Amino acid sequence: MRIRDLRRARPASYDGLPRRAAPLRAARGGVHKESRLNDPACAAVPHAPEDPLASSEIRTTTCCMCACRCGIRVHLRDGRPLYIDGNPRHPLNRGVICAKGSAGLMKQFSPARLTQPLRRKAGAERGAGEFEPISWDEALALLTERLGRIRRTDPKQFAFFTGRDQMQALTALFARQFGTPNYAAHGGLCSVNMAAGMIYSIGGSFWEFGGPDLERARLFVMIGTAEDHHSNPLKIALGRFRQRGGRFIAINPVRSGYAAIADEWIPIRPGSDGALFMALLHELLGAELIDRAFLQRCTNAPQLVVLDEGEREGLFAFDPAAGRAPDGRHPHNKLAWDKLTQSVVAAYPQGVEAARDLALEGHFNLPDGTRVAPSFQLLRERVADTTPEWAEALTGIPAARIRRLARELGQTALMHDDSLPIPWTDAWGHAHAGVPLRPVAFHAMRGLAAHSNGFQTVRALSVLMSVLGTIDAPGGFRHKAPYPRHIVPNYRAFNDPDKLKPDTPLDAQPLGFPASPEELAVQADGTPLRIDHAFSWAYPLAVHGLMHNVIANAARGDPYRIDTLLIYMANMAWNSSMDPLAVREALNARDEHGEHKIPFVVVCDAFQSETVAYADLVLPDTTYLERHDAMSLLDRPISEFDGPMDSVRVPVLPPMGQCRPFQDVLVELASRLRFPAFTHADGTRKYADYADFVVRYEHQPGIGFLMGWRGEQGNELRGAPNPKQWEAYARNDCVFHHRLPEGLQYRRNWNRAYLDFAKAMGWRQRDCPIQLSVYADTLQTFRLAAQGKRPGRQPPEALRERVVAWFDPLPFWAPPLEDGVTDAQAYPLHAVTQRPMAMYHSWDSQNAWLRQLHSHNALHVHPATARAAGVEDGAMCWVESRWGRVRCRIRCSEAVEPGTVWTWNAIGKAPGAWQLPAEADESRKGFLLNHLLSATLPWGEGHIANADPVTGQAGWYDVRVRLRPCEPGEPDEPFPRVETVPAPPGVLGIGAALRLVVARLTGGRRS
Ligand code: SF4
Repeated sequence: MRIRDLRRARPASYDGLPRRAAPLRAARGGVHKESRLNDPACAAVPHAPEDPLASSEIRTTTCCMCACRCGIRVHLRDGRPLYIDGNPRHPLNRGVICAKGSAGLMKQFSPARLTQPLRRKAGAERGAGEFEPISWDEALALLTERLGRIRRTDPKQFAFFTGRDQMQALTALFARQFGTPNYAAHGGLCSVNMAAGMIYSIGGSFWEFGGPDLERARLFVMIGTAEDHHSNPLKIALGRFRQRGGRFIAINPVRSGYAAIADEWIPIRPGSDGALFMALLHELLGAELIDRAFLQRCTNAPQLVVLDEGEREGLFAFDPAAGRAPDGRHPHNKLAWDKLTQSVVAAYPQGVEAARDLALEGHFNLPDGTRVAPSFQLLRERVADTTPEWAEALTGIPAARIRRLARELGQTALMHDDSLPIPWTDAWGHAHAGVPLRPVAFHAMRGLAAHSNGFQTVRALSVLMSVLGTIDAPGGFRHKAPYPRHIVPNYRAFNDPDKLKPDTPLDAQPLGFPASPEELAVQADGTPLRIDHAFSWAYPLAVHGLMHNVIANAARGDPYRIDTLLIYMANMAWNSSMDPLAVREALNARDEHGEHKIPFVVVCDAFQSETVAYADLVLPDTTYLERHDAMSLLDRPISEFDGPMDSVRVPVLPPMGQCRPFQDVLVELASRLRFPAFTHADGTRKYADYADFVVRYEHQPGIGFLMGWRGEQGNELRGAPNPKQWEAYARNDCVFHHRLPEGLQYRRNWNRAYLDFAKAMGWRQRDCPIQLSVYADTLQTFRLAAQGKRPGRQPPEALRERVVAWFDPLPFWAPPLEDGVTDAQAYPLHAVTQRPMAMYHSWDSQNAWLRQLHSHNALHVHPATARAAGVEDGAMCWVESRWGRVRCRIRCSEAVEPGTVWTWNAIGKAPGAWQLPAEADESRKGFLLNHLLSATLPWGEGHIANADPVTGQAGWYDVRVRLRPCEPGEPDEPFPRVETVPAPPGVLGIGAALRLVVARLTGGRRS
């Protein structure tokens, strides 16, 4: 059925009103040039003029109700928004829209909208919500003065942390130009383990960086994924995959969302996924179900590892006489053992046939007597004991089932001769007539990542995918531009304390990818350089920072006090923290002089979140319908497998009240503070606003925030700024899609033409192949330092053992850190959360339509578990961890494994926040599981973040809990009790919001 037919089949009423159609106008939207738009399903849908919802104008832009960034059409009449639907011409969602996306209108009309800048009243407590309105002139003058003073004296005293904002290319640039390393977005709380674990292993990762090729997959294994990432595109692909007869296995403690349509659900205990992967590797290697030729040529599996103790122990042996890469790093001079000649040879020399038989197993000696072994041999030894029986005890999955799964994976991936007839040439100059299919696709997300053992778990999955050869292969995992990156990516984080100077931009981005201990951001004495301790010895590869550490560290002055904390779009006083009540205390903490330990807190948000009440200065942001945005290739674009894609938002409505796009505010501040990238030599500003900045700013010559329609003629990918670039995007549904020739779409780690193209586009500094890291020698350099076997930087004594344990170059499974401090007998259950399909973070509890789907949450428990705890379906009960307790309602379900309880994330709300009425379900019946978490764990005499020791990813899925029935006579009240927050001045409020909604439908005749 075509979209046209589907729409006719809809009920004749929409919001209780008859629904027909009106002519599509290309007011700001337009006709794509791309041939993909020839699909008849993409035809414009006519609307009859008598329809009360008939639009007089349709504008295309990009959704921001979650992070998937689907194309949408906003239907307007007389400038008022009527409704939002999916843009059929958009290559990502092809007209599909979800509940959140279509409810974007109610975000626009949210009673919780902030509409004017606010300053905390003199003498008022943080958290009391007592503000006075101020003008933008005052707010900007105040910020310019304060930030200017910090920048002139000690720039690191400014900390800038953001939520899921989709504009890190700009926010990171602002921090870098300011000269502070104290910057990050929310990735440390979200899924940095997934990003770092895979990027350090295969050069790419899931979602924005790559994903499952369901068009050609035969078996799809989804692990630890709720329906919140790549939502609509993945649903479309999954639907087609199932229609084609593909087999879908879901491995998850909970059968919900995507897993509900899986052919098979394999329940697994939280935090044990790594054990499953290690057992699968044991089976695959044992049965020789591996892509041996791929491992020999495309991974570091044949590279010889030094076994002798000493400075080179565990590192790859190399030929010192061989050449280096052009940048002088990572010399391509590694060695392998040639089985034919029984001699040591260069591992991947140019011009040598790929079929040369390099040893993957065995122990050898170099001519100088050094003992070596191929890294794959070490992997074999590592998985020798990780049997299915071993994994059964940890995962709860029967050993026989693990064996069957391993067989199914190996046979489906490897036991066929299918390939696509697409000629391509590899990085060594060998022409290939086709690309072999590897039709086993995986997808994984936060279920793996949000554990303190998540980095090594994700490493294990990456190695599993690598031994099956299913990397950038048809039917397997495929990269999305600008990935793959080099392993390790050529982006170093700022790390030199001597270069932290007043009025001086950083000489590197605040975030990056350390490749050795020398690249850590530490002081000479080994203490952290950053307020969140990212890139310190406690979390060396914290590539997304540790947003969850910032407020507590700043209040403790660890490692130093800061002056101003700017929080953008992150609900730190509620669901974006592991212990929200402790964060509130930290925000309010005062020193011995009675001064706030964090002297100045600025919150920029479009809505009255729980965090707003704790600000000294509130900046009202616009909604996504009121501003320009660029989803840039410099950040996390919406690229697809077949080529780079970036997209924009254009304002379809004027800003409400005094709201200002935060991007414009940053450009304004950067101009006033005279950041070099934003001002001319004489101090005058370069850019009028963000829209102007996006068009004219060049990151490198010819490269700006947007890739589409560059150059004077608007026909280049890399070229001079095009003053008509915004118009080009608006004419093309706000999206640019460059479809690569087929010969550049696969095996991109080793594809000569693609590597050259990526270098020309500025995505890579080098054009050498990206060998997969079955064995991560980068980790070994940190381990050697911790063992004292390597010259150079060494960790503090207290962290040596931890670094040695977790910086293992081969993947392994160990229990989450919280298991080491919590009595598993006393707290026998795991507790996890996931986002519902209809809500994203805490963004949607103010949304009148979406609240009708989820106004409160329950704790979902297996019936046998509930029975054992003496609690009944539907009853109130206590869920208790070592750190706290929450009162909640139980719902029994067989769609959860018996050792796990779970709930929706961020449905529960603090009373008074988000302009919810006092009796709102969200604060009366809903609850927040975060109250059960601890942001820190005991560590020696002190504490350390409850986080992955490699990346600093918050271990918020590690908590262990128990259930206890509520006693008769206990007060029927939410627990923990949270103070009601009064409405700040200028918040839209329910009455005004209602009037806007009515005006929308009556064309302003009744409001
Ligand atoms: S999946 Fe996300 S981006 Fe797409 S329509 Fe839904 S809310 Fe919007």
